[in-house]
Amino acid sequence: MRAIRVDLFGGPEVMRLKEMPILHPGVGQVLVHLKAVGVNPVETYIRSGSYPMQPALPYTPGMDGAGIIEETGDQVIAFKTGDRVYTAGTITGSYAEYALCNLDQVHPLPAKVSFAQGASIGVPYATAYRALVHRAHAMPGETVLIHGASGGVGLAAVQLARACGLQVWGTAGTERGRKLVMEQGAHRVFDHGAPDYIGQILQDTAGRGIDIILEMLANQNLAKDLTLLSSNGRVVVIGSRGRVEIDPREAMRRDADIRGMVLFNTPPADLARIHAGLFAGLENATLRPVISRELPLADAPQAHIAIMQPGAAGKIILIP
Ligand code: NAP
Repeated sequence: MRAIRVDLFGGPEVMRLKEMPILHPGVGQVLVHLKAVGVNPVETYIRSGSYPMQPALPYTPGMDGAGIIEETGDQVIAFKTGDRVYTAGTITGSYAEYALCNLDQVHPLPAKVSFAQGASIGVPYATAYRALVHRAHAMPGETVLIHGASGGVGLAAVQLARACGLQVWGTAGTERGRKLVMEQGAHRVFDHGAPDYIGQILQDTAGRGIDIILEMLANQNLAKDLTLLSSNGRVVVIGSRGRVEIDPREAMRRDADIRGMVLFNTPPADLARIHAGLFAGLENATLRPVISRELPLADAPQAHIAIMQPGAAGKIILIP
């Protein structure tokens, strides 16, 4: 089978397509024939060697994918050969034609959800759900600002928050991104590249402030976010690419919370509940992953360059 392999940490060019031995599932495992693979920013941090959690070299990147169960190991009764599934984590890496998975890493894919859409669920939708429901404790009627709504996590959060009865505001850096954010369910959209957008958001809340902010780039925005919050407001830090200076008094005077999260910290029981909720949303089409670009698996290096550039409009997908 063909798989992307990383022999040394470094730039996107360290990812090479190689021929690898065919895999077979062990007890309690399944082998998934991947038809689409989701690319996430975290895979670029891991590949560069800068992420705190590092795999042993050499390795195959990736955790998200979708495809068909090729083979089941002993004691597997939940899935059978031919079942459509998406992966949220793998044992052997998802940038490949086949991936071995433990049973808790595989979830059924509803018939009307495409494989490319299935490959967009694992990290982005689980992160959006964890942030909105488990960390922010969002309630219907509250206002959420999704600060970076045009990417994989942001669009998932827009759809989830809208379905949960929140007033949904989002930001994006391009006209294409802002149009998409509105189409996917936001009530209002702002340009996070515009000089006056923070003042505009505050003005549009009539001075009351925002209940919840889901933050994709905290090193740029956290100090500004604190000035936007309502009384008892909370910021969930989902993404950050550096350090930031804040004025703690902005949090104090609002009794506001800054809540961090990393999806990999989610306890297994919470993860199972998240994916049960996502399945229901996918089945009734409340959740509709948006694909921005599809590239062949061999173009993984280009995909890693593209995902770090501005102008997001949904997910970048690799096709094995
Ligand atoms: P993505 O698809 O590449 O999207 C990136 C998003 O960030 C886009 O909406 C982009 O908007 C936006 N952005 C760019 N500049 C911004 C700014 N100045 N202010 C606000 N937003 C800005 O990435 P993703 O998969 O959605 O992930 C988003 C972030 O969350 C990444 O940093 C990722 O590493 C992190 N993340 C963390 C977890 C976790 O467990 N904590 C899980 C998943 C992802 P434009 O392109 O329109 O400018």
